Amino acid sequence: MTPSDLAFDRDHIWHPYTSMSQPLPVYPVVAAQDTSLQLADGRSLVDGMSSWWAAIHGYNHPRLNRAMTQQIDRMSHVMFGGITHPSAVALCRKLVEMTPQGLECVFLADSGSVAVEVAMKMALQYWQARGERRQRFLTLRNGYHGDTFAAMSVCDPQNSMHSLYQGYLPSHLFAPAPACGFSAEWQERDVEEFERLIGSHNGEVAAVILEPIVQGAGGMRFYHPTYLQRVRELCDRHGILLIADEIATGFGRTGKLFACEHAGISPDILCVGKALTGGTMTLSATLTTREVADTISNGEAGCFMHGPTFMGNPLACAVASESLAILQENRWQQQVPAIEAQLKAALLPLRERPEVADARVLGAIGVIETRRPVRMAELQAFFVERGVWIRPFGRLIYLMPPYIIQAEALAQLTDAIAGAIERPELFLPE
Ligand SMILES: *Cc1c(COP(=O)(O)O)cnc(C)c1O
Repeated sequence: MTPSDLAFDRDHIWHPYTSMSQPLPVYPVVAAQDTSLQLADGRSLVDGMSSWWAAIHGYNHPRLNRAMTQQIDRMSHVMFGGITHPSAVALCRKLVEMTPQGLECVFLADSGSVAVEVAMKMALQYWQARGERRQRFLTLRNGYHGDTFAAMSVCDPQNSMHSLYQGYLPSHLFAPAPACGFSAEWQERDVEEFERLIGSHNGEVAAVILEPIVQGAGGMRFYHPTYLQRVRELCDRHGILLIADEIATGFGRTGKLFACEHAGISPDILCVGKALTGGTMTLSATLTTREVADTISNGEAGCFMHGPTFMGNPLACAVASESLAILQENRWQQQVPAIEAQLKAALLPLRERPEVADARVLGAIGVIETRRPVRMAELQAFFVERGVWIRPFGRLIYLMPPYIIQAEALAQLTDAIAGAIERPELFLPE
């Protein structure tokens, strides 16, 4: 990439959550292989992010590439209205088979946020079909469900800056974020406020929506499986739908294929995305029980009112199907616990360091929560100099590497973090 390419990027292209007038630096990547990203100047970086939870099998995977090129040679795309194709059927078969029990009907969409929109619309149509006017959602503080409007309305009100959109976002119900950690001793009072809210708003709540076990972009917090069991029980008691957003947690990341399995529960509606295509294409899915699907279909509208142009895109379905086939060979069942053990050994002792407020690990996710917010640009440069790609935000420095990462490369990632927290100049004043 030439200096003029970079100048054009800076002057004309938005990047995620950045300013157009004062953008943070971007690093030109020209190729990626296995667990490394190659910069334009020839340097290579160990990838600690899996491109935001997605590239679980590593980059430039021969099987994923083959699935895509074979599909391209047949057809890259065809509309899904009135048409079906083998790649969609193969993918949805696998999804029904692999996801928690009872989820039988699949809606394919383009991105995680859209899968959440679809889930919320399904919950609204479900109650409309049953002749009840229920239009509110109950969710947890510190949650993250995407950037489109309905998804944003159930994100943490502070993190997602609800105030910016005040008057435009519907007002939903927020229970406190679970306080009891994943392996802490369960405290029944952790779920008391949730129980009170669901009881007092019973007649108006269409569904509970939450990220099971791991709250991702809203704080990288891991909570107790019993909390999720209680939520399932309370939803059942009040006849309220449960939407599990497994867009980040799905496909093995937390040590179970789906995070719901830590609590042994099934939701009524499940959203998946991110790792679905092994990090190659954008695709998401919303799965429901037969009962939810039938109720919607037998309602006044007689159908579900949604159908994206690129619904069921064959190229994305083909590569997703191959990514799930790789997962079904179960190597992740050794890889993820090995990553977990190494992350625990390397990161948990950092709790003692002065800049560190907490360190936590679950499955192939390692998190350092710092006392002070990080200086993004400086810390990013520090990591790149040490040959690693780690993208911190706020007070969080975290790792979620591809499952195929080797011990040595993982050590390079954790060493870089251990080095960073010894540099007070990489943190903002409190
Ligand atoms: C990333 C994410 C989303 C949004 O997915 P996009 O593909 O970015 O629209 C929704 N929910 C959770 C839990 C996520 O991590």
